[in-house]
Amino acid sequence: MKLATDLIHLARPDQRPAPVNPPVVRTSTVTFSTLDEMRDIKQRRGRGERLFSYGRRGTPTTHALEDAISRLEGGEHTQLLPSGVAAINLVFMTLLRPGGHVIIADSVYQPVRRIVEGWMRPWGIAVDYFDGSPEQLTALLRAETQLIYTEVPGSLVYEMQDLPALASIAATHDIPLAVDNTWASGILMQPLAHGATISLMACTKYVVGHSDVMLGSVTANGELGRRLGEMAVTQGQCIGGDDAYLALRGMRTLACRMATHAENARRLGDWLEHRPHVARVHQPSRSDHPGHALWQRDFEDTNGLLTVEFTAGTPDARVDALVERLDLFGIGSSWGGFESLALPCDVAAARSLDDSWTRRGPCLRLHAGLEAAEDLLTDLEQAWRALDE
Ligand SMILES: *Cc1c(COP(=O)(O)O)cnc(C)c1O
Repeated sequence: MKLATDLIHLARPDQRPAPVNPPVVRTSTVTFSTLDEMRDIKQRRGRGERLFSYGRRGTPTTHALEDAISRLEGGEHTQLLPSGVAAINLVFMTLLRPGGHVIIADSVYQPVRRIVEGWMRPWGIAVDYFDGSPEQLTALLRAETQLIYTEVPGSLVYEMQDLPALASIAATHDIPLAVDNTWASGILMQPLAHGATISLMACTKYVVGHSDVMLGSVTANGELGRRLGEMAVTQGQCIGGDDAYLALRGMRTLACRMATHAENARRLGDWLEHRPHVARVHQPSRSDHPGHALWQRDFEDTNGLLTVEFTAGTPDARVDALVERLDLFGIGSSWGGFESLALPCDVAAARSLDDSWTRRGPCLRLHAGLEAAEDLLTDLEQAWRALDE
């Protein structure tokens, strides 16, 4: 069955007659009929079975969402976390040890650098950033390398990487490759199918899709999947039934929402390309994007994101004025919800290997929501005048 079809039919409770959605279970304590039953469940749990036994270990609602995300990511085990950043930390905490080494893509989601400085380096873990190329990855490998961590496309300007090539290097050296898959959110690309060992997502974005829940997921196969789950329990990471329910509800419409986000983003990109003061529109679906061929090979479609790079010398204050004049585009972090957003972004501050960004014009990241494209274009057109005032 196609993924879009499965997203509609999965997570239906196994009972007759059945509601179409799983019930919301809110609990800490799980009660048993006898001590024997409780001991049996704890024993099976110790052997790696996922069982309903205590709130921190998940409930039927969160287990249903874990299975749904496993289907979305094409993996065996999914662990849920209270945010995307918590998901990133779980991967690092599970695989890195003092004295170890991690190689991270330079185009990574910026808060990863905060994790690097906040606890990785202080705990004696060496970190190198790489430019996303197989050549530089190979050159940076050490005997102590414990993890390769990347994100495709990169945050803010969507640098593309050859994921199967990176995965094959990782496999040759028996080093796990973890991929932040928030951009594609499973519906546009599945890293595990391209050879990655771990895929993680900020489900906060497209999976939830309605800007009302913080949620992260980590998906992996076999023993590693179970290790990630055990580390989450060890660290006390868990989510509530209401949030799990909302995420499942969001997933039902992920395929059709994404198609509309993509269509709107393409229309905005086509229009913006010809506006005055625009140096370039960053969007991997555009034929002039440096990674366009890789995107075409590995991804189903684009999403709602695009970033406008203004011509060098455009004052930041003019871009700020443009943003504040927009009516339909909200000013705010995150993306993946139903609404359009606009956010000036400092690409130079988010990269350490590519200093060309210090000489380029300011950038504005747009998220095309589910509004009518005509209305978004009308709004952009009136706001664009702020650049010339
Ligand atoms: C937003 C985002 C995250 C973090 O997700 P939160 O749920 O906000 O913690 C991680 N990775 C990427 C690529 C993101 O865009």
